[in-house]
Amino acid sequence: MDEREVIERVPKQLFIGGTWRDSDDGVFEVYDPGNGSRLCEVADGRGTDAEAAVEAAVEAQDTWAATPPRERGEILRRAWRLMIDRADDLALLMTLEMGKSLTESRAEVVYAAEFFRWFSEEAVRIDGVYKRAPDGGGRMIVTRQPVGPCLLITPWNFPLAMGTRKIGPAVAAGCTMIVKPAQLTPLSMLALADLLAEAGLPGGVLNVVPSTSASSITSPVLADPRVRKLSFTGSTEVGRKLVAQCAPNLQRMSMELGGNAAFLVFDDADLDTAVAGAVTAKMRNNGESCVAANRFLVQSSIAEEFTERLTERMAGLHMGHGTEPNVTVGPLIDETQRDKVSELVTDAVGRGARATTGGGPAERDGYFYHPTVLADVPVDARILEEEVFGPVAPVTTFDTEEEALRKANDTEHGLVGYVFTRDLDRAVRVGEGLATGMVGLNTGLVSNAAAPFGGVKASGFGREGGDEGIEEYLDTKYLALALSS
Ligand code: NAP
Repeated sequence: MDEREVIERVPKQLFIGGTWRDSDDGVFEVYDPGNGSRLCEVADGRGTDAEAAVEAAVEAQDTWAATPPRERGEILRRAWRLMIDRADDLALLMTLEMGKSLTESRAEVVYAAEFFRWFSEEAVRIDGVYKRAPDGGGRMIVTRQPVGPCLLITPWNFPLAMGTRKIGPAVAAGCTMIVKPAQLTPLSMLALADLLAEAGLPGGVLNVVPSTSASSITSPVLADPRVRKLSFTGSTEVGRKLVAQCAPNLQRMSMELGGNAAFLVFDDADLDTAVAGAVTAKMRNNGESCVAANRFLVQSSIAEEFTERLTERMAGLHMGHGTEPNVTVGPLIDETQRDKVSELVTDAVGRGARATTGGGPAERDGYFYHPTVLADVPVDARILEEEVFGPVAPVTTFDTEEEALRKANDTEHGLVGYVFTRDLDRAVRVGEGLATGMVGLNTGLVSNAAAPFGGVKASGFGREGGDEGIEEYLDTKYLALALSS
């Protein structure tokens, strides 16, 4: 399909109780960040729509929980197949609303689909325990039940994968859900809802309510005690507010929040591997990723060579609209995001940092920023503390392993860290010493549907993917069985 067809095909209404419907509050516009052009209008949900979505999810819950696990798994499996078959169209849609290159969008579609395949396999492996009580008398049956209707809130940076990472396990576990996608990128989620319906997901199991007023959707949903769980991916700031909103009804929570990843390069590292890993960890998704390397900590003796080689690689990237051939750097999501990146770079340079490549926004339509490497970044630069969410690699140095760990852990965040060394003992020592939920050892890529993704400290709690991912959607139920003889 071409761009026009791909946009035309997407339903632009709210998806509630298995039907597409308008919002009483009108529509909002969706834009292409690669050139600022208007793509289409989407229904703008409000509180009454959110309440209708809750009713639909609650009504569908019991029947859905009783649906055989194999059937739930088969729906996910069909949805995985449909996503792979339509990967090119889904990728084009994502590039148009989010900006990343078609190659990156396609990779996200495959990654996103993988959560459906993985959890289609997990649906039939929800197990329990039957055991004899220690006093020999009764028996204990421990089983698992779906937590119930869930609210799923997703960000704009990975419009499909952040959704399937939640929807996959919720479907597998037997939960119904209300999804609030990011207002900047609602189209991928609407296309996904359509595809899931085609794969056989019954009406009411998945309800999607895009909105320009996030809290007008999320507040009434969380205020309803029948909604039993919140899974949120987004900023730490918003996460903190939502945790407080879950307190009155004590809903279960999964919080996938911001990161500020350290990327450690020791002098015994294979520099080719380290530089390639640095480009991956920094530039995936134009740097707009929670697992993006934000602080490069390089052992002093190799810092100059590492910076030179990273500079060469970053300078060689090809910037352009995501749909153009050979593009490796797309636009940032909007003007606010580009201004924030500019502000952090200006602050660092003002304090003595040197831009060895890039260092400013690109003069063209859309929200482009040149891939940038900053050397000699002083410790008080804001960029070392705040999540930059853009294509900027600040490099600082360390002398000892202890100093490297201290600097790496000197942040409120704890999502991921990267370690490059050929010394296995050191890799394990430093890997275990990093106060993060994930560590990349000699790799700049940790994301994998089969692995538990998540952080510690201000990066949140709960895990998505892996064996752990489905646990977030299951309650443990214990049945005490008394025997008469
Ligand atoms: P955000 O501003 O926190 O928004 C995330 C989602 O929350 C969006 O759907 C947003 O709706 C909604 N939201 C905003 N304010 C809200 C409120 N007061 N109540 C309820 N919902 C609200 O984050 P973002 O800028 O989209 O995404 C970037 C952040 O996400 C970064 O910090 C990044 O590190 C983090 N992230 C974390 C992970 C992870 O797995 N740990 C993965 C990806 C991204 P609107 O679109 O309408 O604002």
